[in-house]
Amino acid sequence: MKAIVFREGSQWAVESVEKPVPGPGEALLRVIQTGVCGTDEHLLHGGFIAKFPLIPGHEMVGEVVELGPGEANAVVGDNVVVDNTVLCGKCHACREGNDLFCENFGSLGCNMPGGFAEYVVVDSSKVYPIGDLDPDVAVFAEPTACAVHGVDILNLTPASDVLIFGSGPTGLILSQLLKTAGAARVTVAAPTASKLEVATALGADHTVQVDRNNPEAASAALREIAPRGFDAVIEATGSTAVLELAVSHTRTGGTVLVYGLAGENDTAAIKPYEVFSRELTIKGSYAQVHCLGRALFALQTGRVRTEGLITSKLNLDTFDQALANLHDSEQIKTIVSSR
Ligand SMILES: [Zn+2]
Ligand SMILES: [Zn+2]
Repeated sequence: MKAIVFREGSQWAVESVEKPVPGPGEALLRVIQTGVCGTDEHLLHGGFIAKFPLIPGHEMVGEVVELGPGEANAVVGDNVVVDNTVLCGKCHACREGNDLFCENFGSLGCNMPGGFAEYVVVDSSKVYPIGDLDPDVAVFAEPTACAVHGVDILNLTPASDVLIFGSGPTGLILSQLLKTAGAARVTVAAPTASKLEVATALGADHTVQVDRNNPEAASAALREIAPRGFDAVIEATGSTAVLELAVSHTRTGGTVLVYGLAGENDTAAIKPYEVFSRELTIKGSYAQVHCLGRALFALQTGRVRTEGLITSKLNLDTFDQALANLHDSEQIKTIVSSR
């Protein structure tokens, strides 16, 4: 079968590889399409939990075409989305109920074969039938699951005033989920005007354009919206400069959520005295486990909408463009079809 393969040294190619065979309890999916994510590029360069050679792609929609021997929790013919996490259930973290931090954490598309291929094998207990949901909506199930986990971590107080830095797929999904989780007002701040228009169309109350060369102007606009700061501020860009800005726009007693993926060795300047004297809470949100079902429900019920999020549709042979799109600020989500 055809697959994208990442190799050591930031190398990748479209390759012909063996079609996988489902083992006991597993399902073979014919991949319909898979979303491209900034994490894919981190993985290409050996970041996050990359293990080479790697078939990337962790945001997949597929059709169940074959089941392995024995019992299975999937039905041949169903279109499904996949919880791409593989948890050992045996390590200390798993036994303590902290399986997000499984010491043997597996993740399809990160350190195990993923969806940028014609077929993928998955644990049949990790598939979620999507019924007649459009695959162009269902393909957002995994990023929405990560956002659901972020909202769980944030644990908002009802009628909160929330600011999100970042208008990538995550920021645009979070801005909607937060409304179902207690935010009375959501403000999105980001550099690209076209993405802020999408944020507004999807229900953001305010948007503020951030000029990277003149962040003071954005700060002034944010202070006009929330003079004493926001109850919660989410950093969804991975930029340490933005994290520093996020702290300054958090109200006294408020919470900062670090959601964006920064470089492993990046550091940000945060004043301990400010955290102390203003009793700030700084939280982190890392990946997800067990959130796929709620994510799919939010997409099915329309509480999370995806109009305007897909800005490019490619296939395995044009994957180079998918990587290039990650550096095009006008692009929001690229989808790669495996058909
Ligand atoms: Zn992702
Ligand atoms: Zn474990």
